[in-house]
Amino acid sequence: MPNLDLQEQLRLLYEFQQIDAEILALDNKLKSVPLKIRKAGEQLQIHQQKLQEKQAQLVEAEKVQRSKTAELEMEGEQRSKYQAQLREVKSNKEYQALDKEISFIQEKEAEIEDEILLAMLRIDQLNEELVQQQKEFDANQEKHNAQKAEYEQEAKDLKAAIVTWGEKRQDFFHQIDTGLMDQYQAWFKRYRKGLLSLVVENACGNCHLTIPPQTLQEARKYGQFIRCGSCRLILYILPPAPDNALVEEPASGSGQS
Ligand SMILES: [Zn+2]
Repeated sequence: MPNLDLQEQLRLLYEFQQIDAEILALDNKLKSVPLKIRKAGEQLQIHQQKLQEKQAQLVEAEKVQRSKTAELEMEGEQRSKYQAQLREVKSNKEYQALDKEISFIQEKEAEIEDEILLAMLRIDQLNEELVQQQKEFDANQEKHNAQKAEYEQEAKDLKAAIVTWGEKRQDFFHQIDTGLMDQYQAWFKRYRKGLLSLVVENACGNCHLTIPPQTLQEARKYGQFIRCGSCRLILYILPPAPDNALVEEPASGSGQS
């Protein structure tokens, strides 16, 4: 266990909790992917149902046309029979009775012909609508397939990113004091957020409470954990920008070309 002071430990833990937050966010995104795929599928299913309904309507209209055509045929046969009988009749009374029957059938035939015409018009209309609807469905299907592939790729990318962040997380894990890590992990498990709050412009980065100067001074000493008076997170103040970075940089003779 490297002997690091509290400031360094807090710095490492802060990095660590940033990684955890990143992994958590990626994981939440990943979990939402199957739902997005399912929703897209349901959308397509609705389109498919509408298409099937239209197809059923067409089948029904064609059935009507067939049965009416058969009906018309039957009436026609009956009429022909009567018309043949009409040539054989002897009495005027018989003639009139048959003639009346024939007129009655002819009226019926005209009615049926109208119904057949209506059925045919309906079939034409339904066929036109079906072609249009099928076109729309095909386009939707194509769009859905592309969308699904996109979601699947997104899930793959998210999984890969989680693995990468997980490796980074492992590196930090080993550098952090076990006691502090245990405390952090218990907290993260319970609250799904970090134990440290970055102080931004003298305020708690988590709850935005302004931290009293005295507390800030204490926090900068890193003698012990100083907690936010409101949200109770451990305050972490970024170390001052390292002016010594320039000093530490090895003097280099290689110039810029
Ligand atoms: Zn706070």
